[in-house]
Amino acid sequence: MRLRNKPWAREKINAHPQFIIPEPSKVKGRWQEVFGNDNPIHIEVGSGKGQFVAGMAKQNPDVNYIGIELYESVIITALDRLIEADLPNVKLLNVDGSDLLDYFEKGEVGRVYLNFSDPWPKTRHAKRRLTYKSFLNLYETIMPEGGEVHFKTDNQGLFEYSLKSFSEYGMLLTFVSLDLHKSAFEGNVMTEYEEKFSLKGQRIYRSEARFKP
Ligand code: SAM
Repeated sequence: MRLRNKPWAREKINAHPQFIIPEPSKVKGRWQEVFGNDNPIHIEVGSGKGQFVAGMAKQNPDVNYIGIELYESVIITALDRLIEADLPNVKLLNVDGSDLLDYFEKGEVGRVYLNFSDPWPKTRHAKRRLTYKSFLNLYETIMPEGGEVHFKTDNQGLFEYSLKSFSEYGMLLTFVSLDLHKSAFEGNVMTEYEEKFSLKGQRIYRSEARFKP
């Protein structure tokens, strides 16, 4: 993703604490209070411009969604989307997904979504992939037993690596599609990258993997 320097982004983020939660470590363990209900909390790590979390929130009003995005210059587009849509069941965090344990209590998150995660193709960068075993360990910790990671990508290499990583970690693969848009899967919410790549004719891979008790 191309990143432009947008110095006014921080100011805009600070002006909308109802959408981009400031100091999220202070509400660790109390996310349902933040949403004002006891609905499950699903997160997307690397949520980019927020199309997926906003679309999922519209489709599933009884689920709370949190989009986690590292870059200010990217998350402000997601912020604009939320200001426009005013969805009560979506919040954003401008933090690094490596630090999930600072923001979520054990078992607090019902599901983790990873969409078009950066592939980090060089072997020496494998630890940065969001499906590397150390990340899986974070997801397992913040979800209850049997928690699921739902993953989509256009990148065959990252998909193969990730299926192997899920499996080596001891997770159960409950869904695998090698061509999502030609499959019978219903209710797919497209991400920005998914729209872009599928318009170019690239196939989309999708998996669901469950942590075994
Ligand atoms: N999920 C969106 C989509 O499918 O359109 C965005 C995909 S984009 C290729 C990957 C996004 O993940 C980027 O916006 C990047 O900044 C974000 N990202 C990468 N590593 C991250 C991390 N450790 N924590 C939070 N966000 C991260």
